[in-house]
Amino acid sequence: MELLKRKILNEAVVVDDRVIKVDSFLNHQMDIELFNEIGKEFKKRFAKKEITKLLTVEASGIGIAVISAQYFHVPVIFAKKHDAVNLDRETFQSEVYSFTKSKSYNIRVAKNYLSPKDKVLIIDDFLANGNAALGMIKIVRDAGAEVAGLGIVIEKRFQNGRDKIIMEGIQLESLAIIESLKNGDIIFQDSATN
Ligand code: 5GP
Repeated sequence: MELLKRKILNEAVVVDDRVIKVDSFLNHQMDIELFNEIGKEFKKRFAKKEITKLLTVEASGIGIAVISAQYFHVPVIFAKKHDAVNLDRETFQSEVYSFTKSKSYNIRVAKNYLSPKDKVLIIDDFLANGNAALGMIKIVRDAGAEVAGLGIVIEKRFQNGRDKIIMEGIQLESLAIIESLKNGDIIFQDSATN
């Protein structure tokens, strides 16, 4: 997706060889015009799939999933990272290891919102080692629902998330695929599709 790649090249800050910061348009301030184009692109790439719900994880996935849902006309569920008294007691849970935070956390979705009838498109901001995505895949499958696909805004191909997702037999669509961040340079893969 050219618009997204241009935005990354113009605004992303390369933190080190493995991490980029995109706070100016995705992870802190949000560029809604860009989100809208992202939503349209996800709809185009998953046009052949029957989808009943979008699932993401708080916090950064929510904005993207909400705007995208306007094209899919389905509800958005966001997995919660913190337990709370107002969260239903009956939840599907999964443990996720975050390499950016170097710690594990649980994500939870109330059992009320996923059923075996659902075909779920999972959406997230980044794909790195695939842990967040695998956590959400587990929750969907624990509910007896089907994973219709995984839509990612920025994939870092030099980490191994893609391989894990493809092994699960899931359609993965990443709108920008970064091959390398070495020496502060952002190098994209030529074709941002599977
Ligand atoms: P994974 O679980 O695939 O290893 O990492 C994905 C999650 O970690 C994403 O939800 C995202 O929040 C965070 N993440 C991973 N790599 C980066 C990165 O380079 N930059 C930012 N901003 N977030 C990242």
